[in-house]
Amino acid sequence: MLSFDEDIVQEAATPNLTVVERKPAPPAPSLAANQPAFTGRVNANDKRMINGQTDVNQLVPFKYHWAWDKYLAGCANHWMPQEVSMSRDIAQWKDSTALTEDERLIVKRNLGFFTTADSLAANNIVLGTYRHITAPECRQYLLRQGFEEAIHTHAYQYIVESLGLDESEVFNAYQEVASIKAKDDFLIPFINTLTDPAFKTGTPEADQQLLRSLIVFACIMEGLFFYVGFVQILALGRQNKMQGAAEQYQYILRDESMHCNFGIDVINTIKLENPHLWTAEFRDEIRSLIQHGVELEYQYAEATMPRGVLGLNATMFKEYLRFIANRRCQQIGLDALYPGATNPFPWMSEMMDLKKEKNFFETRVTEYQTGGALSWD
Ligand code: FE
Repeated sequence: MLSFDEDIVQEAATPNLTVVERKPAPPAPSLAANQPAFTGRVNANDKRMINGQTDVNQLVPFKYHWAWDKYLAGCANHWMPQEVSMSRDIAQWKDSTALTEDERLIVKRNLGFFTTADSLAANNIVLGTYRHITAPECRQYLLRQGFEEAIHTHAYQYIVESLGLDESEVFNAYQEVASIKAKDDFLIPFINTLTDPAFKTGTPEADQQLLRSLIVFACIMEGLFFYVGFVQILALGRQNKMQGAAEQYQYILRDESMHCNFGIDVINTIKLENPHLWTAEFRDEIRSLIQHGVELEYQYAEATMPRGVLGLNATMFKEYLRFIANRRCQQIGLDALYPGATNPFPWMSEMMDLKKEKNFFETRVTEYQTGGALSWD
């Protein structure tokens, strides 16, 4: 009989996979990062968003109905990049008179940020967040979200390939373009916290670390860092330019808006279930992180729009980012960082109104369209 370690040695020594007699294995690692042995039938009231004691394999009985509803809404919104024609975009990209240099810069910088951003997002979910969330209905949504991040990366790759862009330049932009690198350098340590195999929740410090990373991911990455890029490409589409790319960005915006709202619902649930984590000091820290995020995204706006373009300029984005930051603060129960900021792009909310989804804490419902092509008017 072999011990667990000896098993590994034995396997290494017998690469041709002969049958080895095995000792009973040591207790299996738990399915959730902090999942203890579970016993008995699941009572919905016993479920917890983090550090739960109930069986993560039993989806029902539901406790967090909003998570299941978002899972269903995400599935109803399913789309694939290759369903969208890129032929007009390709013709415009080849036509030296169809797009200005500033418009081309916007497209290239956008793809430079997003091609890797959604991979970072997917890794954050699959290798990080998923392990630490002990509500199976939320895990179900995270599985859907993970696939949506893959679809987004696919969409950006499809656009890069269709336009014949320099793939190496685009996919390396997050290491080579300062305004993109600055955003990713800010994000990556928070993602690394969650994906670190040694990281475990269960102490107030660790739970705050998790909460901090979840807030950075939902409110700053998906909820702020994506928005200059979304506005820019959707503004091109509104002017009948790069409409295939813009249509895909519109689907992505719809998905990301739901990711952000799901993340906020998770954050608020963790706060409700663990009020001791939401200290004054912690709230101040989150406010300054969001403020820092606004500054980084504004620098990105300036770097991608050195001059006014498409009726947009960096100053308008300063106001827009402040408006969004206030909204994120309000969604997680913080005071507005920039009182009085207004939305210079009211048409952006129409872009998001494709979807129908409920934010559990706001019961906001808007219409969505399943499949088919979107029309631009
Ligand atoms: Fe996302």
